[in-house]
Amino acid sequence: MKIPLLDLGSQLKPLREEIIEAVTKVIDSTTYIQGPEVIGLESEVANYCNTASAVGVSSGTDALLVALMALKIGPGDRVLTTSYSFFATMGVIVRCGAKPVFADIDPVSYNIDPLAMAAVLKNDTDKTIKAIIPVHLYGQCADMTAIMALADQYDIPVVEDAAQAIGAEYPLESGRWVRSGSMGIAGCFSFFPSKNLGGIGDGGMLVSNDSKFGELVRMLRNHGAEPKYYHAEIGGNFRLDPIQATVLRIKLKYLEKWHAARRENASAYNTFFAETSLLEEQKVKVPVAVYKEQAELSGTSRNYHIYNQYVITVENRDGLIKWLTSRDIGCEIYYPLCLHEQECLAELIDRPVLPHAEKAARSSLALPIYPELTLEMQKYVVEQIVSFYKS
Ligand SMILES: *Cc1c(COP(=O)(O)O)cnc(C)c1O
Repeated sequence: MKIPLLDLGSQLKPLREEIIEAVTKVIDSTTYIQGPEVIGLESEVANYCNTASAVGVSSGTDALLVALMALKIGPGDRVLTTSYSFFATMGVIVRCGAKPVFADIDPVSYNIDPLAMAAVLKNDTDKTIKAIIPVHLYGQCADMTAIMALADQYDIPVVEDAAQAIGAEYPLESGRWVRSGSMGIAGCFSFFPSKNLGGIGDGGMLVSNDSKFGELVRMLRNHGAEPKYYHAEIGGNFRLDPIQATVLRIKLKYLEKWHAARRENASAYNTFFAETSLLEEQKVKVPVAVYKEQAELSGTSRNYHIYNQYVITVENRDGLIKWLTSRDIGCEIYYPLCLHEQECLAELIDRPVLPHAEKAARSSLALPIYPELTLEMQKYVVEQIVSFYKS
């Protein structure tokens, strides 16, 4: 049985006609920059995330970059983030002329650990940390109550890297559930095709509950022009393409259904793994939905974890990857090298000590989790993993 890591074709099939019709409409309209499709998507995403503003941008990376530009992050500044993430989380910091500073992750959630953050902030005696970027890795929110408390204490803005987590929810202390991206000054989403809401190319969105900040970003994404040809700020071309917007508006209607299917798949994997001896023997560790208890207590089936990736940690990862690949089962390492280990940072910062992030990078493995995956396929994946550790 061939099981790819991701099967965009099976998602496209039922939507193909609708998408082609919508794209044709944009082509025939001859409005190829901004326009009603972008505005329509922005208002739908603001509504979906319950935020005051949503600004369509060219990618998740550019959403993060323009957020830091709007915060005037520059030379001499540092930005506190996690080392266990996609490169863009850190790349944008350096591109602004600032330096990253890392706190280790919590090994259970893989997300940045607020206790480690507190230690870093305490050491920041000259107050060079000017922003915090938590990442909601794999589709699960970081511990935002603790992170926002630290941000308040030190008066530092928080930019959520929610690239993998559009629609994920987090339980505030009040018991209220809020969507990822709506807690910091800015939330950054990616519409890269492999994300839960993916376009037919690159795209992104920045959301904010501070409408003044949202308007500043709206200006910066278009060279800082307001009105046209008058530039009080230096921005860039970070615009979202209307062809992407029209496709994303169609897909947004199915997003909740897809989140639910991914969550069901995660739960099926958990059950299949629990029926083996792999968990007990500590050959495999399955991902933990950290806020499950709060969700059950509040009687909600909300999408607290949207499983953009279902990531296990395993013993003898290289051997397992070879085994699965030779059996046509897709899998991938997110991410094999931590950000602080990247060559491009070697000259820029002193190497921090981040044992949990490094351990995750050495032992994690993403399995297929896409919505269209069948129970039979999942059963087969787990059977093949069992057979590897028996061999
Ligand atoms: C995908 C991703 C990004 C970048 O998004 P692009 O749209 O590819 O630029 C940033 N951060 C994280 C955590 C991501 O997964």
